Amino acid sequence: MKTPEESRRASAAEQLDEPKLDALYVTSPPNVRYLTGFTGSNGALLLYSDGRAVFFTDPRYTVQANQQVTCKVVIAKGPITKATLIEVARSKVRRVGIEHDNLTVGQFETLKKTLPVQAELVPVTGLIERLRMVKDAAEIALIRASVIGNSRALESALKRFHMGMTESDLAAEIDYKNRKFGAESPSFDTIVAAGSHAALPHAHPGAAKIGLGMLLIDMGAFRNGYASDMTRMAYVGRADAKYKRTYKAVLEAQLAAIDAIRPGALTSTVDRAARQTLKKHNLEREFVHSTGHGLGLEIHEQPRIGKKDKTKLEPGMAITVEPGVYIEGWGGIRIEDTVLVTETGCEILTPTTKELREIC
Ligand code: ZN
Ligand code: ZN
Repeated sequence: MKTPEESRRASAAEQLDEPKLDALYVTSPPNVRYLTGFTGSNGALLLYSDGRAVFFTDPRYTVQANQQVTCKVVIAKGPITKATLIEVARSKVRRVGIEHDNLTVGQFETLKKTLPVQAELVPVTGLIERLRMVKDAAEIALIRASVIGNSRALESALKRFHMGMTESDLAAEIDYKNRKFGAESPSFDTIVAAGSHAALPHAHPGAAKIGLGMLLIDMGAFRNGYASDMTRMAYVGRADAKYKRTYKAVLEAQLAAIDAIRPGALTSTVDRAARQTLKKHNLEREFVHSTGHGLGLEIHEQPRIGKKDKTKLEPGMAITVEPGVYIEGWGGIRIEDTVLVTETGCEILTPTTKELREIC
């Protein structure tokens, strides 16, 4: 039986045919992790087109690399780039792909300067990222667990909520609970925005005391390396008519977008479903961002779910659906789930209720 990482390396090696690469030098940490299982901070992979692979790290990670990585491991005494060049020279490969968006100028110059004469560097973009869009069974299980843990953390943190608590207090409570329930870290800075602060889609929780009114919470965590992401609203006290009306419109848009998710559907179609529903309620101009994004080893991955994004959905893609409306001086409402594309449609992974919630 192949490990998930071995299967991924085999699929990745097939991707080298079209750009006619003999090898790909993988330096982006999530890509390295995806292909090797290595969770340390300093590692790189040279993947050959025939599927062989050599992993490079430094002496701090000798034990960890031997435990986590199933291909050949080289412990570099000096910079990893140098050790890679020795391997490139030894294997006599010609066309070596480098990750255009994940190599520093310094690393690039070292590579170029000391590259064996027979070899050339070929910048490529998105090669491994495209593979990562479609999650395998092992990844789906991890995303599911991350999403469930995150939902549990919200309920547990809300139990500690009381009026007069600051946005920062509640954000800290959320981060604490996520960590307590097994997450490694937040997958982005937790957003807790009370009242009119919710009008900023990426508000930073501050010293403002949470009083009567709306509360927007956008939270996620990395658990075993995989991200979760969820936005929920709560109303402190009794919700007024405008809030109820707007909440209903956003929920309707969110459900319409989810309804459009199926294999073969374009991501722009999913985005349009949300936008057209908000248009019916005269709120389309208040929806100022895209409908969602992929998530996995990173909190924002391909595909993007926006107006102009033409990715065809495939079973195994994990995406967020998060329409929102933002009204200056009043506040904002966003509802976000993580959704898995399945063979027949989709499955909402987020178990947290979307019923209008009043607290206190
Ligand atoms: Zn979010
Ligand atoms: Zn999101």
